[in-house]
Formats: sequence, C-alpha cells, structure tokens
Amino acid sequence: MLIGIDWGGTKIESVALDATGKELLRLRQDTPRHDYDGCIRIIKEMIDKLEAETDQTGSIGIGIPGSLEPVSRLGKGASSTWLLGRPVEADLVKVIQREIRVENDADCFAASEAVDGAGAGHNVVFAVILGSGAGAGIAVGGKAHHGPNNSGGEWGHNPLPFPNVTEIPGKACYCGRHGCMETWVAGRAFEAEYMNHTGKELKARDIIEKKRAGDHLSNLLWDRYVDRVARGLATVVNTLDPDILVMGGGMSNVDELYDDLPPALAKRTFSTVFHTPIVRAKHGDSSGVRGAAWLWK
Ligand SMILES: [Zn+2]
Repeated sequence: MLIGIDWGGTKIESVALDATGKELLRLRQDTPRHDYDGCIRIIKEMIDKLEAETDQTGSIGIGIPGSLEPVSRLGKGASSTWLLGRPVEADLVKVIQREIRVENDADCFAASEAVDGAGAGHNVVFAVILGSGAGAGIAVGGKAHHGPNNSGGEWGHNPLPFPNVTEIPGKACYCGRHGCMETWVAGRAFEAEYMNHTGKELKARDIIEKKRAGDHLSNLLWDRYVDRVARGLATVVNTLDPDILVMGGGMSNVDELYDDLPPALAKRTFSTVFHTPIVRAKHGDSSGVRGAAWLWK
C-alpha cells in the first residue's frame, strides 16, 4: 500500500492507494495554520488511521508546501512560512518513526499528472497550479525534476514578464520580492483585482459567472488575467518548450482558459508556431496527494 500526504497551506489531505493506483481510503483536515507541530501531529494521526482502517502498512510520501534546501535539508521557499528554516523531514521522521520521502507539493502534482494523469505519454510535463497561490512543477519521464538548488519549477516567483508601466514594481510577495507571478495569477490575485476596481469582495467563480453574463469589467479582468498567465508561460516555452502544459488549482476549472490561453500564449512566444497542448489536470484536487504516494513507485 502507498500512502500519500498533501500538506497544504489550507488543508492536509491523505490517501491510501493500492499498487495499481486504486484509492482505498482518503482523509482530509484543515491545516492548523502557523502551528508547525500541530501539522506534524495531524499527519501522524492520519497515517495511523489509514493503516488501522485498511489493516495494512504503507510506504509514506509527503508533499510539502515548499521545498528542502538540498544540503541542509531545511525548509525553504514555502508560502506556509511556518516551515521556513525548519528540519521538516527530520521532524516528520522523529514522529512517524520510519523512512519517508518528502517532496515539494507542486512537484508531486507534476509527477502525478505525468504518471497517470493528463500528461501521461508526454516526456516533459510542465504542471501549473493556479490556486490560492501559484506555482509549477516539472516532470521528465514521469519523475519530478529538481536541480542542484531544488528550485526546478519555482515559476511562481519569477517576475511577471513584459510588464507595462502600471505593473512595475508589482505587488509585494511573501518571498520578499515584488511582482512575482504568484501575485498576478493566483486565484486570490484575480479576486483582488476585482476588489480594486469595485470595492466589492467576490469569489473568483462569481466573477467568472458575471463575465459569462456579459459584465464588461469582469471580461476585461479575465482577458488581462489570461494575458498575464500567457506572459509567464511564454518564458517557459521559450526556455524549456515542454511537451504539454497541465493546468491545476481552482482557476484551472474555468473552461474558457482552454480557449483563450493558447492564442494569448502564441502571441507571446518567440516561435511563429504554437502546438503545445494545454490541458486541465486529470486528477484535479487529488493530484498532489496521489503524486506524494507515487514517490515510492
Ligand atoms: Zn515571490
């Protein structure tokens, strides 16, 4: 049995899979934000429960909302800032009391979609998360690619390319920089733009409903959002030219993204042709947790 845990900034989800990938049991709980020890305690309780209810022992793979510095193994690049500088892996092992595998959550998502998701059959998969935050993972041959700094796929903290004068220096990001992709293309960023223009707080899906009903402002905001995603991804295509772009996170559920993004991206890339498929993640919200389980496959 393979156990996967997705330690997210808002929820901790876990799944037990059999060797074929069939789901045996799934658990989900809210993340106690800023409570590092509380998170680790919940993860341990989930593992105990999954194993008790399935009556099996599993391998443990954990996706974390950040990554580990490759030499010191301390948490870095985490939007869940309570992981920063903490010996995450060692602390988990201390409590779980067995060998585990830990990986960045976006990398788990990329591997999951590459192995048996929307990217299956493609060698280089660039998986984008447009959720409460924004990030990406790169899978090559079904495995997450890291690099010497464990920074592969840290796309969310590239600055927005081709900025216009109103986009400089851009909004402050938790990472200490300004104008990071995450501050423009996360679902929350889309909602903040609506708020800026109207003073009204609306969820992204409600703004999309207004757009569909013909609301002019919502349509303008959507077009600008798509253009920003396209600008960010154009640099990826010009650098890596992945075989497929797989989209995840809440904003990937907007159907119009798959009609509007390809022509917007084609306008921004160097090549005169743009053939890259852009598809929705197959496993949706489940991808991170499945990818964590696959760390042992
Ligand atoms: Zn940043």
